[in-house]
Amino acid sequence: MTVPSDQDRSEEAGLPAPPADGPGLFGDAGPPPAPVTPDAAPAAPYRVLARKYRPTTFDDLIGQETTVRILRNAFALGRVAHAFMLTGVRGVGKTTTARIIARALNCTGPDGKGGPTADPCGVCPNCVAILADRHPDVLEMDAASRTGVDDVREIIEATRFRPMQGRMKVFIIDEVHMLSRNAFNALLKTLEEPPAQVTFIFATTELRKVPVTVLSRCQTFALRRVPQVELAAHFDRVAQAEHVRFSPDALSLIARAADGSVRDGLSLLDQAIAQGTLDGEGGTDAAPIGVDLVAGMLGLADRGLVFDLLDAVLEGRPDRALAITADVYVRGGDLGVMLGDVLELVHTVSRIKAIPALRNNPELPEAERERGAALAERVPVPVLGRTWQMLLKGLSEVEQAPDRRQAAEMVLIRLCYVADLPPPGDLVRRMLGQDAQAAPLRVSEPAGDGGGAATPAAPAPPTTSGNPNGGGGVRMVANGGMRVETTPQPAPRTGKVAETAPMPDPVAPPRTWREAVAFVSGRDAMLHGHLRHATHLVSFAPPLIEIRIERNSLPGLARRLETVLREGTGDPAWQVRLSEEEGEATLAEQGAEIIQLHRAAAQAHPLVQAAMQVFPTARLGEVTDHALDDYGLPPEEMAAGNLAPDLEFAPLDADLVEEDDLDSDDFA
Ligand SMILES: [Zn+2]
Repeated sequence: MTVPSDQDRSEEAGLPAPPADGPGLFGDAGPPPAPVTPDAAPAAPYRVLARKYRPTTFDDLIGQETTVRILRNAFALGRVAHAFMLTGVRGVGKTTTARIIARALNCTGPDGKGGPTADPCGVCPNCVAILADRHPDVLEMDAASRTGVDDVREIIEATRFRPMQGRMKVFIIDEVHMLSRNAFNALLKTLEEPPAQVTFIFATTELRKVPVTVLSRCQTFALRRVPQVELAAHFDRVAQAEHVRFSPDALSLIARAADGSVRDGLSLLDQAIAQGTLDGEGGTDAAPIGVDLVAGMLGLADRGLVFDLLDAVLEGRPDRALAITADVYVRGGDLGVMLGDVLELVHTVSRIKAIPALRNNPELPEAERERGAALAERVPVPVLGRTWQMLLKGLSEVEQAPDRRQAAEMVLIRLCYVADLPPPGDLVRRMLGQDAQAAPLRVSEPAGDGGGAATPAAPAPPTTSGNPNGGGGVRMVANGGMRVETTPQPAPRTGKVAETAPMPDPVAPPRTWREAVAFVSGRDAMLHGHLRHATHLVSFAPPLIEIRIERNSLPGLARRLETVLREGTGDPAWQVRLSEEEGEATLAEQGAEIIQLHRAAAQAHPLVQAAMQVFPTARLGEVTDHALDDYGLPPEEMAAGNLAPDLEFAPLDADLVEEDDLDSDDFA
C-alpha cells in the first residue's frame, strides 16, 4: 500500500482544490485508475504516480530535449507561435507540455511583474491556478468526446473576449485529429487570423489525420518516445521518492513495457508497488521488488523459460520444448503469448548479433545481455531469420487455430524439426552442387515420422560415368534440372554434352528402334511425331522392323519410314512391316513413365521432404533429367556416331545456362 509521502502532502498544500482524477469535459483524459488499495486512508486521497509526478517545468520533461530547446529559444526571443501542434505516441507528455507552455505564457513571476518566460515560477496566481486546472483562461478540450462544429464554435466565441485573469487565453485541444471536417473548417478562420491574446495548443497521436491547412498554421513539435534508459532512470527516481526499492532489472522491464510512454510506465510502476508491498517486497527493510514480480504482472513468461524454450528449439529438441510448454500451460500461461516472447527474444538476439555493443547496453535486462549474447555468438543470422519468420507465421496460425495450445506446440515441433537443417541459403547452395566440399547434409527424422526412413531407393538412370554403389543423393546437374541418382556425383561436369554426345555420323544405320526414330527426326518431322507418339515397336531385327500403329495415325506410315531408312542409309534392304501384336509402349509413353518415376523418387527423397518442411508452400516442379535423351529415356548403350544430325545441344559453356534453367525448374 502506498501512503502519500510527506513530499506529497507538502506539494498538495499549495493547491486548495486538488482535481479529481479522470476525464472531464475540460479535463485530462487521465491515466488508468489506480490499483485498489484496501487500506487506503480516506483522509489523504491516493494520487496515481503519473499525476503526482507530472512534470511542471520544461526541465522536468524527460526525453524531449529538442522540443524544449526550441521552445526556450522562442521564449527568449519573444517569438512564441500562436498555434502549436504537439504530436507523439500516448503518454509521452503532450498535454503536460501544453500546460507548461500555458504557464510560461501567463506566468507573472513571484513578484507579479514578470513577463512570459520559459521558466514559469510556479507560485504566482496564474501558475498556481493552471497547475490546479482551474485557470479561467486556460481551457482544455478533449476532441475525442467533443468532435462537432458546435463545440468548436464555443471556443471561437470565447476567443473574442479578453483574458479574464491571465495574459493569454490558451486553448488546449487534445486528440485534435478527431474533430469533424466542419469543425476544422470553423477553426481554420480563427487560426488564419488569431486574436493577439489567444494561443492554440493542439495535441494528437495521429498527425496524418490533421488537415494540412491546419498543420500549416501551427508550429509542430514531434515528441519522441522516451528512450528506455531515460525511462528506467526516471522510474528509479520516482521509486526512491516513494521509498520503494526495485531491482534494476525490474525497472528495465517496466521501462521496456512502457514502450516510450512515461505515463504508461508510471502506471505499471504503480501496479508493481501495490503488488510488491502486498507481497512484502520493496519496503526499506524488505527485499527489492524483483524482475519475477514485474514479469508476472506484465504477463511475461519467466524470461529464463523463454530462453530455455528458444534453446530447445534451436537444438532441435521437441521433447524439451514440449515439457516447457506443458509447464507454462499448467501454470495458466498463454502459449501464444509465450511464442510472442520467443519471437521478441529472437529479435533481440539478432540485434545483438548485428550490433555487438548492445551486449553492454543497460537497456537490455541482464538475462538478455548474458544469455542473449551467448546465443548471438552461436546461432548464425540466417537461422535466426528463419526462426523469426517461422514464429511469425506460427503466431498467426495460433490466432486462427481452435486450440491455441495445439497450434503453438505444432509451431514449436516444426521449429525443432528444421533445427539441424542448414539455413536456406546453404540448402540451396548444396542443391545447386556449388558446395561440393560441404559436409553431408543431416536431415533430422524425429521419432514417429516414418516417411523419411522408408524412402524407396531411387531408380537409377544409367549414367555414362559408371554407377558404383553408394547412398542416394539429389543434385542439380550442370545444365539445370534435378538428378536423382544412387551415388553422389563429383562436381558438375560442364563438358558433359561433348562427352556423352559426340558429333553424330548422319548416315550410320540405326541399331535400335530409338535410333531409328531419331534417324527420322531431322528428315521427316511429321513422321517423327507419329513414330514417337503413336507407334509401338513389335520387333527390331535390321533390316526388318515390325511395328503396330495406332488408329488414326499417319496413312502410309510404314512405307514412309521404309523410304526414309532406305534413302538415308543408302541400304535398300530396310523393310517395315505392320503387325497386329501389341508391342512396346510408344517412346512418348516410356518417357512419361520415367519422368513419373523420377518425380516419385524426388518426392520421396529425404532432402526434398526436408525442403518441403522448411518451405511449407513449396511445390515440386517439373522433374527433369538431362542425362535422358530427347525421348525422356536413358541413353542406350551405343557407340558414337548414330544420333540424328539436328539434335539440339547445349553450348559447351553450359555454365551460363545453368542459372536460368534452375529458376524455372524444380522448386518453383
Ligand atoms: Zn508563475
